[in-house]
Amino acid sequence: MAKNWVRKSHEEIKQTVFGALDNNINYSEESVLGIPASYLDDKVFNQDDSFLENAPYISTLIQNPNHIGCHTLGKSESFFSGTQAIERQLIDMCAVDILNGEAGQFDGYVASGGTEANMQAIWVYRNYYMNEMNASTDEVCILCSADSHYSMDKAGNILMLDVYKADVDFETRLAMPEHVEQAVNKALQNGKKYFIVVCNMMTTMFGSVDTVAHYVDVLKAKEVDFKMHVDGAYGGFYYPFTDGKTALSFENPDISSFTLDAHKMAQAPYGTGIFLIRKGLIHYTHTQEASYVEGEDCTMIGSRSGANAVAIWMILAKNGPFGWQEKVFILQKRTEWMCARLDALDIEYYRHPRSNIITMKAKYVAKEIAEEFGLVPDNHSNPAWFKIVIMEHVTIEKLQPLIERLSNQSVQSVD
Ligand SMILES: *Cc1c(COP(=O)(O)O)cnc(C)c1O
Repeated sequence: MAKNWVRKSHEEIKQTVFGALDNNINYSEESVLGIPASYLDDKVFNQDDSFLENAPYISTLIQNPNHIGCHTLGKSESFFSGTQAIERQLIDMCAVDILNGEAGQFDGYVASGGTEANMQAIWVYRNYYMNEMNASTDEVCILCSADSHYSMDKAGNILMLDVYKADVDFETRLAMPEHVEQAVNKALQNGKKYFIVVCNMMTTMFGSVDTVAHYVDVLKAKEVDFKMHVDGAYGGFYYPFTDGKTALSFENPDISSFTLDAHKMAQAPYGTGIFLIRKGLIHYTHTQEASYVEGEDCTMIGSRSGANAVAIWMILAKNGPFGWQEKVFILQKRTEWMCARLDALDIEYYRHPRSNIITMKAKYVAKEIAEEFGLVPDNHSNPAWFKIVIMEHVTIEKLQPLIERLSNQSVQSVD
């Protein structure tokens, strides 16, 4: 896997980040009179050198670089070119080393989160169809599954596109070709001609993974035009490490873009959604009127902190690709441990074999237990499922008491 992505020591990370900050404009030492920004308020945020010299992330936060715009396209705001280069490197690490794309073939940026990255993809494709095919918004639609994240509905609402959802099988959580065909037929009957497909690389509630072929085969058989985005907001930093042969990668020519959230599995601060897209597409969301921004702007968000890109880059560099593989391996082992205990108790659940989410049928879990252990329902008013997400802090020591409580409860009392 490793091409751009190599493990670095803390010393090397410091050198890179402080080197990048040196290439940014320095508000305290240089003359920057024309931008509505400065370093963080020093009456509130400690800017003492002895505190900052070993803290490259906090130093970046304090210097407060603005990463407005997209930095993979050539020109962008030159005041912050140092840390923007780190963001560019990060985009290549994700597109090439994690998603098997070819170096230099991708655009992207660090978005506020998965919601924005998904919406950015849908915005690009909507505009592509409007500009290239002269489509009206009535002719373009979003196609996803019943288990897709609600950001698809937000995107549909904001971008004025109808959303069609393929049903999923209750037990396997898979949208089968017949489910996809039903949704596509309904869209075609309603006059839709252009499909923006969003496939899931681990859903929020189940960790289930779409079979790309179920979508592609139906759409190709019907000879309808589509663009495909993959929502890996949850799974992007997990699934590529448990399924090396997945069809959900940039090796698949049907896929044009991805969302990966670093603020979920990668334990980065919030504000670290990653949007990646093949070159030649992001200009469809270019806002010409953004003339005061050098290099102009193709992103949905405006100003954003460069510290977010630096945080993700530092996390990946510190772990390295093999460290990441080991991290995921441990979470897989804990998940298997938990599944074996649930099997012994005859508790039914859904778990994709390459995922760290276990979603139990609600009838096996008393409400008090769900509350006591912070289990999350699919629906707060009428739960059918409760999930356990095996994150870094969800150790076997923390799972054991849940198993004890589940084995002591009487299943009768739950029904
Ligand atoms: C969390 C999640 C999102 C939304 O991401 P935010 O970062 O909360 O905006 C989108 N899709 C999936 C599959 C998710 O798990």
